Amino acid sequence: MSLPSMPSTPASSTSATPVVPTTVPVGAVSPQPAGSGRHTGINAATHLPEAEKRQLFGVAIDALTMEGAVDRLWSWINEAQSDARCRYVVTPNVDHAVLLQENPDLRAAYKDADLVLADGHPVVWASRLLGCPLPERVAGSELVPHLFDFFNRYGKLKVFLLGAAAGVAEVAAGNMLQQWPNVQTVGVYSPPLGFENDKVECANILTKIARCKPDVVVVGLGAPKQELWVHRHHRLIDAKVALCVGATIDFLAGEKQRAPYWMQRAGLEWAHRMCSEPKRLVRRYARDAWVFPQLVARQWIANARQAVAAEQQQFDQQSGKMAPQQPSPQHQQDAAQ
Ligand code: UDP
Repeated sequence: MSLPSMPSTPASSTSATPVVPTTVPVGAVSPQPAGSGRHTGINAATHLPEAEKRQLFGVAIDALTMEGAVDRLWSWINEAQSDARCRYVVTPNVDHAVLLQENPDLRAAYKDADLVLADGHPVVWASRLLGCPLPERVAGSELVPHLFDFFNRYGKLKVFLLGAAAGVAEVAAGNMLQQWPNVQTVGVYSPPLGFENDKVECANILTKIARCKPDVVVVGLGAPKQELWVHRHHRLIDAKVALCVGATIDFLAGEKQRAPYWMQRAGLEWAHRMCSEPKRLVRRYARDAWVFPQLVARQWIANARQAVAAEQQQFDQQSGKMAPQQPSPQHQQDAAQ
């Protein structure tokens, strides 16, 4: 994949630089960069290797860091488009992993996604436990501000905000303008309840996006609605990339607050969310807490069985080699003569 000629990210973009100025009330953005805290940026010599995939709970997750994901998006957004299709990104967390088991449409949406990023420490921990490690968590709500930050420094980006309650995306757009002047919100839309089953409304959304000509559509419709809608329409979305990122628009607007950093690090963001929306989330998290460990255990057992079978096969092959050679029929004939 060819990259545009870019200046290397200066040292100032390391962890010392907050992604978000403290004066801007953008709840979504943690001031600390993801994972290693390094964003070395892109330069002309950087090649984007096809990210390795990790098979977890029936999903192939890209083993990318936050930096790698931003690089990938930068490349897609800047490349001369080879086809009209809008690429899309999904960010599986524990809840998605559980939903996927029962929802073949969601599995298909995940299978066709162009980038699948692990949103949630438990997914990353499970990957390590299962011997197919993911480098770090790449939460959708962190990916978006990191992407904006990067484009704000090195380019320009046109964004369409799709989702959240009426009026929220407008507030998010105002905050974004203050924080990332080179990131232009070219359109916002909060679709009415039940829009996904209304063909006219879906066409209306596609027309709105097409009129605004964004590079990126930030889709905040909640899971699995956002993934299913984008999967169904991605060939018709007139943008380069769609990011399925849940409550990110609410976070950008300051409508919802993310968990404190220590809770995020400890993998307790779910607890923070559950306390802020107990009615909606208690049942969900209770189900996830019951099912997810079973998924991990099932995969662990399957891996162990596979390892034993592979060892057995190797043993059989070696013992086959050592077994005395049977004389061929030709040999037997020759010996008889
Ligand atoms: N949402 C929406 N339209 C819908 C359903 C949900 O715009 O038909 C928005 C909702 O307002 C909120 C977001 O989707 O901004 C839900 O994000 P969240 O990550 O909380 O959803 P989850 O995937 O956790 O259910």
